[in-house]
Amino acid sequence: MNKPASVPGHFDAVVVGAGFSGLYMLYRLRQLGLSVKVFDSADDVGGTWYWNRYPGARCDIPTTDYTYSFDPELEKEWTWSEKYATQPEILEYLRFVADRHGLRSDIEFSTAVTSARWDEPEQRWRITTDRGKEIRCRYYIMATGCLSMPKSPDIEGAGRFAGQVYFTSRWPHEGADFTGQRVAVIGTGSSGIQSIPLIARQARQLTVFQRTANFSIPAHNGPAPADRLEQLDVGRDAYRHAARWSRGGVPLEPTDVLGITASESVRRERFEAAWEQGELFGILNVFADQGVNPASNDIVAEMIREKIRSAVKDPETAEALCPKDHYFGTKRPCLDTGYFETYNLPHVRLVDLRKQPIVSITEDGIETADESFGFDAIVYATGFDAMTGALVAADVAGQDGLSLKEKWAAGPSTYLGLMTAGFPNFFMLTGPGSPSVLSNMTVSIEQHVDWVARCLEDMCEEGLETIEPTALAEAGWDQHVQDCGAITLYPTANSWYMGANVPGKPRVFLPYIGGVDAYRQACDEVASQDYLGFRMTGPGGDRCRDGVVRSMQPDVAMVLEFVAALGLPPMETLSAADARALMAATAEGRPPGPELGEVTDGVIPGPAGDLPYRLYRPGGPSGRPRPLVVYFHGGGWVLGNLDSDDPLCRDLCARSGAVVMSVNYRHAPEVRFPAAALDAFAAVQWADANATELGGIPGQLAVAGWSAGANVAAVACQLARDAAGPRISGQLLICPVVDSDMTRPSYEENGDGYILTTALMRWFWDHYADPADRGEPRAAPLRGDLEGLPPACIVAADFDPLRDEGVAYARALGAAGVPVRLARARGHTHTSVTMVDVVISGAPVRAGIGEALRDFFPSAELQEQVS
Ligand code: NAP
Repeated sequence: MNKPASVPGHFDAVVVGAGFSGLYMLYRLRQLGLSVKVFDSADDVGGTWYWNRYPGARCDIPTTDYTYSFDPELEKEWTWSEKYATQPEILEYLRFVADRHGLRSDIEFSTAVTSARWDEPEQRWRITTDRGKEIRCRYYIMATGCLSMPKSPDIEGAGRFAGQVYFTSRWPHEGADFTGQRVAVIGTGSSGIQSIPLIARQARQLTVFQRTANFSIPAHNGPAPADRLEQLDVGRDAYRHAARWSRGGVPLEPTDVLGITASESVRRERFEAAWEQGELFGILNVFADQGVNPASNDIVAEMIREKIRSAVKDPETAEALCPKDHYFGTKRPCLDTGYFETYNLPHVRLVDLRKQPIVSITEDGIETADESFGFDAIVYATGFDAMTGALVAADVAGQDGLSLKEKWAAGPSTYLGLMTAGFPNFFMLTGPGSPSVLSNMTVSIEQHVDWVARCLEDMCEEGLETIEPTALAEAGWDQHVQDCGAITLYPTANSWYMGANVPGKPRVFLPYIGGVDAYRQACDEVASQDYLGFRMTGPGGDRCRDGVVRSMQPDVAMVLEFVAALGLPPMETLSAADARALMAATAEGRPPGPELGEVTDGVIPGPAGDLPYRLYRPGGPSGRPRPLVVYFHGGGWVLGNLDSDDPLCRDLCARSGAVVMSVNYRHAPEVRFPAAALDAFAAVQWADANATELGGIPGQLAVAGWSAGANVAAVACQLARDAAGPRISGQLLICPVVDSDMTRPSYEENGDGYILTTALMRWFWDHYADPADRGEPRAAPLRGDLEGLPPACIVAADFDPLRDEGVAYARALGAAGVPVRLARARGHTHTSVTMVDVVISGAPVRAGIGEALRDFFPSAELQEQVS
């Protein structure tokens, strides 16, 4: 039983919503001994499952998983009757939970919260309800659901229809009888796709108005899957634990099969198995790359289109039902029972709004650009103002009276999807920026509730009374949420995930797609690091450990995890020969980089023998001269060759439109300092003298390099300046080695764990140059005279030990009057920017590099060729 409010109208916590999240939050707050009041505008528990009563409404995660796990006894007492339970059964379950734990006594039904104001002097929330009540609470928790605010009908004339109007999201409790009626359904998302087959059973005539064709797979509903039940019987706790640490909240091993490289038979086999299984996470896991690679995605999409074509008899209708304007999964796919087959019934018709848009709803029906339709009933299955709608509609105002709506005018901003700066003690359960709708909601709800409960308990123990995120932590999380989305295909779709279904709503990727497991890890880390990024106050003192919990690009982190799992020996423990062999082996099977017009190999004379080179020409008219970029590979003067940097050279060539000439140079330890630098300078001289033969434009030559290659490129520029030629138009230095001082902070911060380590860098230097030579400008160009050098573009990566020397070189060049562009590779390591088509987040950085290269050659011709 709840602790009563010590002062009438004053509670420790107010929770809005009595659905899955609100009920469990109430249960946990009670356990903490707090006084709680829950409000819900419905007259019973259920939340989403109270309102969405349309025919055919079911969950789309198997109910064995879509269930609470906090109460093992409850799990024993409740048995789901079907693989995907119906809405009435889910509602019954929530009633059962509420009764079992006596939760109703703290819930005020049929009461909506109309406003919530933070009272700074009192350090309390002032809550008002539509029943005229005003109450105060320390913690205000919105458990209002992600899909609870129906989208208002944005169709001309929507109020004019004189017949029956239904919204799937607000279905009448007494149900609807369409027998003998002419019915219109507008919308073919999950709600439309679930209800259409059942409405068709009653209606005399059913017309479906479809704006966007949607992907749907058969649910194959029936008894709960036997294998799942068996797993639960054998080890319920282990199963639930696996769910909590899975990507989507349902135990499932992510596949490593790539769609683009799998054989046709493997593709077919994996797809058919997922189709037969009838589960969302299964069909989203046919290939590891289907969410990021358009070609792989299209394999799955086309197989689904084939299924639609074979299910629907009329070819024109079938074609209209085939989704073609978005990648599979980027709008939430649906699970159906006989949806596509419904269109084979003689009284069911599909109207493709892409061909004949709705002009207006009329008094007796719907008018499209081509036809007038008469109806007895119209069903709107037009969706929700998802994820933020219910939050901003609730008139929440934080410090200084700023409302959530105002703060989020350009899109939501949260820390962990749990809190937002300026709104102390205000929690959102499954808020924007958390996995929520991309996961099994029940698992994500329990995780959020448990986190909030633990946080309040910790605060209580330490005499802390307010908590709110810092601006830095929140901006960092917002960025991470967007970074995670940006490497996927999701932002390309006009989905409700993007806010694109509501006219005027800012286009922002709303949920967190990094995975339930990764998210839980981040939340746990925040809590265990003294609530990193939160500011807390109270009699126990003020405290704030400010910081960003995730600042690495998500795909860079994945590569690091992958490399760590390989358990490779550290390079610096190997001989140079073994290190070279290991480097070559790890490069096997990587994506080759873009196709180009021509790639040829050759040799040029060097100071002590021939030097191999590879020449990359972009596509387009052959023979047309282009500016020339002489490139030097990375590898610490010890490793690397023309092959090691081949994908990067292709990428630079394709992006810049210049001819790229990658030149190999003599390596240490066989030949030590200054051989590599002298070879580089000789190569630049030779390229300049032979520009025409190489397909270049005489006088338009730049140098480029990565890592140690950038070191020799920078040195070549200094030698060319000293030798009064050749004239170099620009120097592109990607994560360069420009100094031998290994004490800068970036060595401290990034010296271990990011592939290029301090130990490896020391090994490189030891192979390359005697300590006495390492201060020489030909080894450490930062120590040279920097005046009169060519314009530079320097790339510095956040998680690179060399970051600070790159930045120092940029600053020193600038101070010496050299035009410099410093490109910060945010969230990248020393190597990740170069990993073409592996680290997708590196592409925008390389796009900037391509632009910088083009800017070295302001000739209109190159700019034109590239554009
Ligand atoms: P939805 O997915 O947003 O679908 C709304 C449909 O209405 C879309 O086809 C949309 O077309 C169409 N529409 C919206 N405005 C329109 C307009 N002005 N004119 C013509 N068509 C219009 O909404 P939902 O079906 O209610 O589903 C929302 C989410 O709720 C689902 O994605 C799912 O996560 C959840 N849900 C789950 C289940 C379940 O199986 N458990 C059931 C129902 C809902 P456009 O695509 O062109 O915008």
